[in-house]
Amino acid sequence: MYLKKFDLTGKTAVVTGAGQGIGLACAEALCDAHARVIVTDIDRERCESARKALAERGHNVEIRALDVTDSASIDRIADELAGAGRSADILVCNAGIAQAGIPAEEMSDQDWLRMIDLNLTGVFRCCRSFGRYMLEKQSGAIVNIGSMSGTIVNRPQQQAHYNAAKAGVHHLTRSLAAEWATRGVRVNAVAPTYINTPLLHFARENKPMFAEWIDQTPMKRVGEPEEIASVVLFLASEAASLLTGSIVAADGGYTSW
Ligand code: NDP
Repeated sequence: MYLKKFDLTGKTAVVTGAGQGIGLACAEALCDAHARVIVTDIDRERCESARKALAERGHNVEIRALDVTDSASIDRIADELAGAGRSADILVCNAGIAQAGIPAEEMSDQDWLRMIDLNLTGVFRCCRSFGRYMLEKQSGAIVNIGSMSGTIVNRPQQQAHYNAAKAGVHHLTRSLAAEWATRGVRVNAVAPTYINTPLLHFARENKPMFAEWIDQTPMKRVGEPEEIASVVLFLASEAASLLTGSIVAADGGYTSW
């Protein structure tokens, strides 16, 4: 009975930024649970290589190029799926960029605005477009990928814009959860520590900061994309039917004590 709650047969799942890293692992986890997965990423070729990688592991996915800064193209894909009678049941807002080592007093408007537009407004745009159809059918689960940096500040990182965007994702998650709680749509987020993906390269370059971070992490290690994907799978599934507005820390204990 309990394992059946993880079965996503018949559900359509859209994952943003799923060409690699955490998003790709989420796509695989959702495939494992038998969802029809649509892998989206800004880069079409990366979508294609993700499709091939998943096919080698026995999973068939659809792909779409989707830039989370482009409201019209997000609407187009949400409308297209709904028009075909398979609007998204699950949305994983994962696409994001990182940029560290910029003292706040030297940060340009351009850097600030790009970060907020992509990492925060991008999540809002996707929740709005795909969420409309979820509200229509009074059923859906959204999982946003926040960050431990949205909860605490690691001073040497110097990434005020990233921290603010991720804190925004956490509070946007709670806000949508509150608005949609009685309308069948759950909205939760995962707040990961450092995860072993291409995005992590910038952090590894700053060896003292990285070493300090690991030292302060109770588990003394970074995470793997699959360890975030399994939390996403849980939140997307009926197993999490009572969870909405939760920000699940997946950080090796860093923010727990
Ligand atoms: P990756 O860079 O490995 O993957 C993110 C994907 O999103 C890339 O393919 C990237 O393309 C794509 N992307 C970038 N811009 C857009 C856009 N405008 N529209 C659609 N897709 C886009 O990152 P991770 O897998 O590490 O990160 C995924 C999420 O997890 C992010 O939101 C990140 O902030 C968050 N996170 C990651 C942590 C980590 O340590 N890795 C820790 C905490 C949170 P491109 O490469 O061309 O930019």
